[in-house]
Parts: sequence; structure tokens; C-alpha cells
Amino acid sequence: MTTINILHLYPNEMNTYGDHGNGLALKRRIEWHGFKAMVHYHHPGSSIPKNIDIVVGGGGQDSAQADVQADILNISDALHKLAADDVPMLMVCGTYQLFGHRYVTHTGDAVKGISLFDAETVGGPKRMIGNVMVESEFGTLFGFENHSGQTTLGKSQEALGRVLRGNGNNGRDKTEGARTKNVFGTYMHGPFLPNNPAFCDYLIKLAVQNRSDTFEPKQIDDHLAELARAGARKRSY
Ligand code: GLN
Repeated sequence: MTTINILHLYPNEMNTYGDHGNGLALKRRIEWHGFKAMVHYHHPGSSIPKNIDIVVGGGGQDSAQADVQADILNISDALHKLAADDVPMLMVCGTYQLFGHRYVTHTGDAVKGISLFDAETVGGPKRMIGNVMVESEFGTLFGFENHSGQTTLGKSQEALGRVLRGNGNNGRDKTEGARTKNVFGTYMHGPFLPNNPAFCDYLIKLAVQNRSDTFEPKQIDDHLAELARAGARKRSY
């Protein structure tokens, strides 16, 4: 039976609003779809294990982003190599910002990123907080945002989707998140994957196909996620 190896970046430093749940949701759904799953936690200073199939990273405060900056620059080549090999990744908020060129905080400190996305983030005076609804090729996506960083995508950088409600990348241009190959960035916490099971299954499908295995989705009881999504759709903010 194929084992799908999930690499979870900085679970201690970058874990706001339950982002840890993304790794857990992946593991459980991989098992429900009939494969084995293993989560490897990456802490600053450790090296990247071989045979990684999916990478996830969560949000964090400006201070936590500064704490992991040196390490993410150290593992940048390994992450670029995985991205070039079409490995699916999901980076949320603080780690999403570190996958761009840089994040300049509202106090003027510059945190350098790994430039997997052509994106720049600058901290603004106002935090963007609230529920987000996004239109995307994966259907409607729901999540919760809380960031001061305003991200601007480069001209040819693809977004994850279009904001229907909330701020997304910067509160101005209606873009939300980013996509380069199979690497996704988003401001949506929630955690995101339990809220958006179709997107979770898409990451799993990519990982399984990269291993030359066939993905035949099993019937999963998603009624709780559906209830949560229906509730989120009805919210006015
Ligand atoms: N510290 C970053 C910001 O405020 C990211 C916050 C987060 O990950 N929720 O923009």
C-alpha cells in the first residue's frame, strides 16, 4: 500500500487558528481514501526527509516568522526542488508570506522569503480580520483571515482565487492567495482543509498521481463540513 509522506513545516512556531488541523485532515482523508499516511514535522535546524509527497505550513505572528526565517532560507533549495517535481504544498498566511520575496512588517522589519511565489508583502496599519469567501477553480473556498500584511502578486503570478467576501491578499484587488505549479498559498485559516474537503482531496490526488498510483476517491461522510460551509456561506461578514 502506498504511503503518502506529509511534511509539516514549523508546527510549533507557525500554528495560528488551528492550522495544525491541515496536516491532520490530510492524514485522515488519505487513510479514508485507502492509502497510508505519515506526518513528518520539520523544526528549525532539521533536514528535509526524502520522499516527501505533500508539504504544509501555517500562519504565525511577525516574531515567529522572524524566528523561522534563517531556517526557511536554509531549506529553500530543497523546497524549490520539491516544487519543481510537482509536489503539492499548502502554505497559510505567515508561511505563505515567507514563500514570496519578502515581508516588511508594519514596524519596518524586513523578513526575507524564498521567492517561490512572485509576491511581496508589506504590513499595513490595520489588521484584516474576518471570514473569507473565495471563488476558485476548486469551487467556493471558505476560511478566516487575520493579517496586517498586504500581499501584491507579480504580473504573471496566478492567484488561488477571487475574493467574494473579505480582504484576501490585500483588500484592494480581489485576489486571494497564489498558485505556482502545485504550490498554493492562502490567507485562509479555519483550518482550511477541514473546511474545504474538495480542495484537500485535490492535494491528495496530485500526491497519489505523482507516485504513479491511481486515485479512486472513496465515499466520505462530509456532512459536518457541508453544514459548516453552509453556515459560512450565510454569514454577512
Ligand atoms: N504576521 C503576519 C501578518 O500579520 C501573518 C499573520 C498570520 O499568519 N495570521 O500579516
